Amino acid sequence: MDFSTSSLSSVCVYCGSSNAADPDFIKAAAGFGKILADEGVRLVYGGGGVGLMGSVARSAHDHGGKVLGIMPQFLRSREILFDTVETVVVTSMHERKMMMFEQSDAFVVLPGGIGTLEEVVELLSWRRLDLHRKPIVFLDQKGFWRPFFELVDHTIESRLTPEAFRAAFRSVAQVEDLLPTLRVMLEETRGLNMMLGAADLT
Ligand code: AMP
Repeated sequence: MDFSTSSLSSVCVYCGSSNAADPDFIKAAAGFGKILADEGVRLVYGGGGVGLMGSVARSAHDHGGKVLGIMPQFLRSREILFDTVETVVVTSMHERKMMMFEQSDAFVVLPGGIGTLEEVVELLSWRRLDLHRKPIVFLDQKGFWRPFFELVDHTIESRLTPEAFRAAFRSVAQVEDLLPTLRVMLEETRGLNMMLGAADLT
């Protein structure tokens, strides 16, 4: 279990690797990269130089931010490893996801495809199993994530996911709101952990 609530020093970003994505999504990814750099928060991401991934990483790096890319060996050429920044090459997707999780205090989900979905659903499933309480915030730009939220709601309304799971993640519409929301969630988790700690003593 990882219930640690350090300050926000590293944020993992899950996002699409497609260069054909809506240019506004690619621009927003760059905007978030700059915010991370300006606020001195390290970016942890999948290591690619394409799509929103490349956009967020290049922007964070260009604005003087710290970046850690984690890339499986077999994807190095397909996702065009962005090796201007610190990069770890791993052997499998599992290792990549585990390292991205371990190296981060919180998670941001920008628009993405199947790979992004896979990563965030696994992270949410770990939360559902109470394996961690790290904050997760989606950028719901142009309502991109609405169908996903509706599917989660559907599982809650069908009594397959508990109502309390709604607190597992939040969404914002503007990149400027991502870090403040993560910080609020981190504070709330800290409060919850203190309460649970106190309860443990009784
Ligand atoms: P996509 O959203 O499909 O563009 O993919 C975004 C990122 O997720 C890419 O870097 C993919 O390599 C990565 N990805 C796809 N499937 C997995 C997986 N099973 N485990 C870890 N990363 C994945």
